[in-house]
This record gives sequence, C-alpha cells and structure tokens, in this order.
Amino acid sequence: MEERLPRRVAAVRGLTRRFGDRTVLDELDLDVHAGEFIALLGRSGSGKSTLLRALAGLDRDVEGGLEVTGTVAVAFQEPRLVPWKRVEANVALGLAAPDAAARARRALEEVELTGRAGAWPLTLSGGEAQRASLARALVREPELLLLDEPFSALDALTRITVHRLVLRLWAAHRPAVLLVTHDVDEALVLADRVLVLDGGRIAHEAAISAGRPRHRDHPELVALRA
Ligand code: ADP
Ligand code: MG
Repeated sequence: MEERLPRRVAAVRGLTRRFGDRTVLDELDLDVHAGEFIALLGRSGSGKSTLLRALAGLDRDVEGGLEVTGTVAVAFQEPRLVPWKRVEANVALGLAAPDAAARARRALEEVELTGRAGAWPLTLSGGEAQRASLARALVREPELLLLDEPFSALDALTRITVHRLVLRLWAAHRPAVLLVTHDVDEALVLADRVLVLDGGRIAHEAAISAGRPRHRDHPELVALRA
C-alpha cells in the first residue's frame, strides 16, 4: 500500500478557551489530516462543542493557535433547519453560487431526500431532518466536516442508516471528519482515530486496529474508495 504524508487541514496549537474563571480548553493541541475520520469522545461538559465551534470559526474569544485551511461545514445535534424555508432552500442557504439550487438538489439526492426537497422542515422525521442537515453541510464541499453529536437524537435503526450514509458520503468526497459522539461503539465503527477530551486537552488517543470489523469496510464503501 502506498504511504503518503497526509496534508493537514487543521492545526490547533495551545488552544485555550475560558468562560469567566473556568478554563474549558486548556492549551489544547490537535492536528487533523485530509480525509481522516476522527471521533471525539469526552464527558458531557468537557468542551467538545466548544472545540468544534472554535474550529468552525464561530468563536472569536479563543486564545492560542488555530489554523484551518479550506472550507469547514458543521452539522449539529439538532438539525437547525430554518422552519419557514423549504428543505431545498435550507440546503442552498448561504451558497452564493449561481447554481446553488442545482447543487442543493444534488446534495439532497446524495442523502436520499429528493422526494422531500419541497417539504417544510417541520414535516420531516428526525432522520430526514438530520439528512437534510448533512446535505446542507455537504453542499459546501467542505474539506473539514464537523459533526456535533448528529446521531444522538435518532432511534437505533435510523442511526444505523444515517451512519452508513455518512460513511458513503465520506468515501465519495473524502472530507476530514471530526465527529463528536458519546457512543464508544459508534466511535469504533466509524473512525480511524478516537480522541478523548478531558481536562481541556486531548487526554487520550487511540488508532483503531486494522483487524476490527467496521461499517466502513463494507464492500460497497471499499469499492467507492478504490
Ligand atoms: P460538551 O460539548 O463537551 O458537552 P461544551 O463545550 O458545550 O461541552 O461546554 C464545556 C463547558 O463550557 C461547560 O461547562 C459549559 O457550561 C461551558 N460553556 C460552554 N459555552 C459557554 C458559554 N457560552 N458561556 C459560559 N459557559 C459555557
Ligand atoms: Mg456538546
């Protein structure tokens, strides 16, 4: 197998975030490489969302080094669709391109939501809303896709469907993914690398062993990557 040094899409050096006298991120270091799938675990309140917001450029009150190259897209636990815009318009939101509508339709096709393009967000099921939210992230063709517990509100079966969808999209587009989850099994089946945030830093890191059966080694996905 060919070994290459992967390009870095994010470099975090000594990142610190304080809220009043609480230090939530404490000199945190993290590198994210192009195309890798990282799962980020950590206790509730350990600062996972704070780190994602910083990476997404949504938090200006961080201290330290934060270098992100390329487009970043975020999907949150609650899909946060704009209720007075139809699904397709939600996906196209913020796209300046003249072909925004066509790109939105393509993204909806990829998440298998073509039939719901004209629907109002409030009429979607949880899984559909989450897929619409993924389409909205994907349409921007991000190099770094930040997923903040996007599956935790879904029932177990829908979650598996959406997992497979995320892996298919990852295999087809190869963004780097940083997925926050509290589900260790989810982390192990999806990711290349599992990180644990504790005490304001990446306290533990584990590479997933090659022999472990994973969703992502499903033949359909391997074929896509080839
Ligand atoms: P996680 O996503 O790991 O559950 P968060 O990043 O949401 O944790 O929060 C980490 C800590 O920072 C929590 O104690 C939370 O209360 C605090 N925090 C997050 N955002 C704010 C804010 N805007 N103001 C004050 N405290 C905050
Ligand atoms: Mg959180």
